[in-house]
Amino acid sequence: MHNRDAVFLEDLCPKLRDRRWRKSLHEFTGKSCIYCGENSESIDHVLPRSKGGLSITENCVPACLSCNGRKTDSDAFEWYRQQRFYDPRRSMAIRAWTEGDIRLALRLLKWAQPKKGKNLEKSKTQLSEDYSWQAA
Ligand SMILES: [Zn+2]
Repeated sequence: MHNRDAVFLEDLCPKLRDRRWRKSLHEFTGKSCIYCGENSESIDHVLPRSKGGLSITENCVPACLSCNGRKTDSDAFEWYRQQRFYDPRRSMAIRAWTEGDIRLALRLLKWAQPKKGKNLEKSKTQLSEDYSWQAA
């Protein structure tokens, strides 16, 4: 895993490493909260630090301040299931994320978020393609 090597090299400069790491987490989801899809402004520990959760990618997800603040120290999955914006695809994405499968997590998130950003453009294109099909 070249990922591990990169982390090892950046151990030489922990501050830079931390900043770049946090930024990369937000970039994974296009700066959107993994729970509700709003702008992610913070990093949430899926397993809270108070319960021994580590500050590693598998345990840290981009979250908006609202979700991060309301979740507090509860179990992320239990808390999330009780939310109005609960989406089983997002829940699966969070699960995949915590298992280290970021790519699967991102695919699930895109699927759960058809209304936003790039996906919107994509669905518009899709729509016009369908339309031209019918016209032809
Ligand atoms: Zn949120």
